[in-house]
Amino acid sequence: MSVSNTGIPFLDLITPHVELEQELTKVFQQALRTAGFIGGPMVENFEKAFATFCDAKHSVAVNSGTDALRFALMAAGVKNGDVAVTVPHTFIATTEAISQAGALPEFVDVDERTYNMDPEKLREYLEQKCTKDASGRLISRRSGRPVTAIVPVHLYGQMVDMDAILALAERFNLIVIEDACQAHGAQYFSRKHNRWMTAGSMGKAAAFSFYPGKNLGACGEAGAVTTNDEAIAAQIRMIRDHGQAKKYYHNIEGYNGRLDAIQAGLLHVKLQHLAKWNEQRRERAMEYQRLFESSGNPVNAPYEPSWSRAVFHLYVVRTNDREGMMDFLKNEGIATGIHYPIPLHMQKAYDNLSYAPGDFPVSERVAAEIVSLPMFPQLTADQQAKVAKEVKRFVQSRSSKPVAGEAKDLAVAERMA
Ligand SMILES: *Cc1c(COP(=O)(O)O)cnc(C)c1O
Repeated sequence: MSVSNTGIPFLDLITPHVELEQELTKVFQQALRTAGFIGGPMVENFEKAFATFCDAKHSVAVNSGTDALRFALMAAGVKNGDVAVTVPHTFIATTEAISQAGALPEFVDVDERTYNMDPEKLREYLEQKCTKDASGRLISRRSGRPVTAIVPVHLYGQMVDMDAILALAERFNLIVIEDACQAHGAQYFSRKHNRWMTAGSMGKAAAFSFYPGKNLGACGEAGAVTTNDEAIAAQIRMIRDHGQAKKYYHNIEGYNGRLDAIQAGLLHVKLQHLAKWNEQRRERAMEYQRLFESSGNPVNAPYEPSWSRAVFHLYVVRTNDREGMMDFLKNEGIATGIHYPIPLHMQKAYDNLSYAPGDFPVSERVAAEIVSLPMFPQLTADQQAKVAKEVKRFVQSRSSKPVAGEAKDLAVAERMA
């Protein structure tokens, strides 16, 4: 009903909502009949369920992923004038939240295969680009400001190598706030703890977005923080509600950052299906992998390390003629996207940070070559076969050479097979 017979959409947001229409409509009815619009049991019940899903002790629902990240940074103790280290290969909300918390974003490059924060680059940054002041604080040489936090981003639904990041954070006494806005339910095998752990349960706190297109999406704007730290959860509950400890007793100036009860109710209904949808995304990813392998690996398919169970918010491949491939696929009725075309250090909005092209070569190379293919739980095998066929046809028509990293990719293909 939502997907035309010929075209293959990038994402299908209609089918899951039509399938759940009766249950979702009941949420509206309940809210209308109780006038429970802000706070109350619908929000609290969703928070409990989402914390359980993430294997975290607490979850605090807020009005967006951006605010979730900002509030998490503030509540965890990031202060005005601090530096928070993140990657340039992410959505701008990551750095907006850092700036809005009063901190300065500084970058380290990503890993060429996972597209996520490279722990080696982070180590280099902390050891070589920072210094200790008289009082023992870690100071960034480039800005002269104290470095207090790391914000790893589990981009595309794949985990950052958290053991390595957390070990560095411990060594340098830094706060880790996960940007898990694309990674609801992603799993990481911690060698340190010798078990699988869930995105959002590993840092001091984590931010999730429920923007409609995310793996768990509201019917509007929504987000949440997860944390195992009761004090941080309490602080965020206060920050999201005008700094109130109780009604009209304001301990601090806060924000209007609450989540509507209706959105919480809708999210709670959809949460019941999230594990299944994530599993379907993983199956679709493996199907793409099989199709590309059997047609001679025309593009660099995603790499999934043995310690990551990704939830494929996006399915991103690489090619050296990205614009050509997108046009070709568009002509065949296949929608694609770019996540993201310009690394943050090269965005106009960050001219003031005084980075230059060449500062983060991996992010720059990746940004020029990535294409996101259709990926959603309801994607059919026929649609995938068509996408893979057209990708191959395009690559053959250009006889374009595979981009750097192809040799490594073969090893990955073997591992995923
Ligand atoms: C979506 C997203 C955000 C922001 O979430 P909103 O709910 O849109 O505010 C932050 N970081 C990343 C990586 C995202 O994908």
